[in-house]
Amino acid sequence: MFIFKRVSHLQEWVHQKRAEGASIGFIPTMGALHSGHLSLVEKSKSDCQATMVSIFVNPKQFNDPDDLIKYPRPVEKDIELLYNNGVDVLFLPEVEDIYPPGVATTIDFDAGEAAETMEGKFRPGHFDGMAEVVHRLLRITTPDMLFMGQKDYQQFSIIRKLIDDFALSVQLVMCPTVREENGLAMSSRNERLDLSVRQKAGLIHQLLSEGKTLFENGTSVADIRRKFFDTLEKADFKPEYFEVVDGYTLLPVETPDDAQQIVACCAVYAGEVRLIDNLIWKNS
Ligand code: AMP
Repeated sequence: MFIFKRVSHLQEWVHQKRAEGASIGFIPTMGALHSGHLSLVEKSKSDCQATMVSIFVNPKQFNDPDDLIKYPRPVEKDIELLYNNGVDVLFLPEVEDIYPPGVATTIDFDAGEAAETMEGKFRPGHFDGMAEVVHRLLRITTPDMLFMGQKDYQQFSIIRKLIDDFALSVQLVMCPTVREENGLAMSSRNERLDLSVRQKAGLIHQLLSEGKTLFENGTSVADIRRKFFDTLEKADFKPEYFEVVDGYTLLPVETPDDAQQIVACCAVYAGEVRLIDNLIWKNS
């Protein structure tokens, strides 16, 4: 496995692979890797001839400076995991490699209403920073395929729009959410949970699943939301939002007939740790 820190070194490798006729898959991450990330690696390896992963904790997408400081950075362990999982290249840039002084990196991109709800509402500026870094990483790495997790459903939708708006030549692939045994969506943030809280946090997925059945049987979104909030609050969690949205526009829906694809999305605080999750309730 090659580890490149400089853009020019990475690009030399990309040019060489391209000259050999290899298709290249790319997985952008912020590190602290777990089985969720590795499922994206596996998918890339099955769909492409070469796989690149980047680890870059993007300061521009953290609206809470404390969250940025506390974000785990176990780089040695990550390198070992990527090596053991057959990744061809790890791109490990510094902030100056991605945002070189004097280089215009901001983009003229408006994700519209899709960026204003849910994460966009509670983490102002998050999606601007995220779209900017993914755009920059795609321009640097020029992959054939980009693999992203359903875990960050809203992020995926915004990147889909970014690729369309800028007519970027890359195929975007959504990979299913990988969960812990109790249903909790795997996340680098789970490491910060006490064991007992981590076990209890399976409740989030349980409620998303129960909500799907209630929704299919005609229960209103308002009633499902109330149950979601009440149950989690009784278990000492602090739900931040629970929204049922059209899977393409991310606008709220009320009934199963309102959209072809429907997704229930939520954010929940466990102490100071903010967890997000979602479940596709309809896919037709
Ligand atoms: P992150 O390192 O959190 O920025 O995530 C990098 C990529 O891994 C994103 O496309 C995430 O959606 C994806 N990802 C994170 N957690 C999971 C998970 N539990 N299952 C599937 N994909 C995930």
